[in-house]
Amino acid sequence: MKAGATEAQVNEVVQEIRRHGLRADVSTGEFRTVIGIIGDERKIEPAQLGNLAGVKEVLRIETPYKLISREYNKHFETGGERFAVTVGGHQIGGDQPVYMAGPCSIESRDQLFRIAEGVKRAGAHILRGGVFKPRSSVHSFQGLGANGLNEAREALSWLRDAGRRFEMPTVTEVRGEGQVDLIAEYVDILQIGARNMYDQDLLTKAASKGKPVLFKRHFGASVEEFLSFAEYIAAEGNKDIILCERGIVPVGKGKSFTRYMLDLGAVPAIQKETYLPVVVDPSHAAGRRDLIFNMSCAAMAAGASGLMIEVHYNPAEALVDGAQMITPDELKETIDACNRVRSALAPARVRGG
Ligand code: PEP
Ligand code: MN
Repeated sequence: MKAGATEAQVNEVVQEIRRHGLRADVSTGEFRTVIGIIGDERKIEPAQLGNLAGVKEVLRIETPYKLISREYNKHFETGGERFAVTVGGHQIGGDQPVYMAGPCSIESRDQLFRIAEGVKRAGAHILRGGVFKPRSSVHSFQGLGANGLNEAREALSWLRDAGRRFEMPTVTEVRGEGQVDLIAEYVDILQIGARNMYDQDLLTKAASKGKPVLFKRHFGASVEEFLSFAEYIAAEGNKDIILCERGIVPVGKGKSFTRYMLDLGAVPAIQKETYLPVVVDPSHAAGRRDLIFNMSCAAMAAGASGLMIEVHYNPAEALVDGAQMITPDELKETIDACNRVRSALAPARVRGG
């Protein structure tokens, strides 16, 4: 819209879009309003919109993820800054890296509080912990949430309480649509796990809560698919999306010596496409604790806005993912090194566009 277009003019454009069975994404900047069309835009002729009062220009954006694309959002004077995700006073995608840490899985109140205290001391900003675990085998521990609604509420309340006690916003995975309302009562960030990246109903439902969404790339997804599915979240009017690279399937027949292959090229590549922050999860990518330090530093060098790392005071006793968890002391070493990498690179910050 032209600078100074009236609300009535904006509404007229929105109505015209809706008349064609499409949805409108209205973003209001300080000086300008940009309206995106959600749906099959072939249903509408650009001239039909271009002739309406207050319209400056009509542009066609060819990517399947236009709402989160740089191309769409560059029309805002504020540029990339508007896509930093702010939670509990921390800016993910701002100047400072943000560290999320905690156990793979919440096992008891004591376990969680002990780990929360440790990761806070190590310099973490956000507390993670799984309540509903995605597992490859039905015979393995599924997270405390699997024991029933009361147990799920209890574990979620420990997470909320530990977050409050140690002043860290919280994140946990929503494994299915049916868990969204429950989990959103307790945590600050809803995590969508790698296995559910393609579940558009889950994405839509999670987005509707208006809370930031930590969105993990499926291990078999291209970057284009990853961004196209992130667009489902944006299409609900929720732009607080934190993208997470966590490794893709390794190639070849022999041993790869890592659980997945961390695709660090995806980090700056995604930043060329979108202003959304990208964080890296070296834990699930490596699958082994002795690689976490190096992969974390590498992720920082690649331009990640933060990291998500699994931590346990005694990894050997963890029910899930013990092999990849590091201790709070190791987390501190890792965070300190990552901060040094980030400050060393700060003048020539790795950024797209
Ligand atoms: C997790 O973060 O707890 C997890 C299961 O990761 P992913 O979805 O990346 O496998
Ligand atoms: Mn895990």
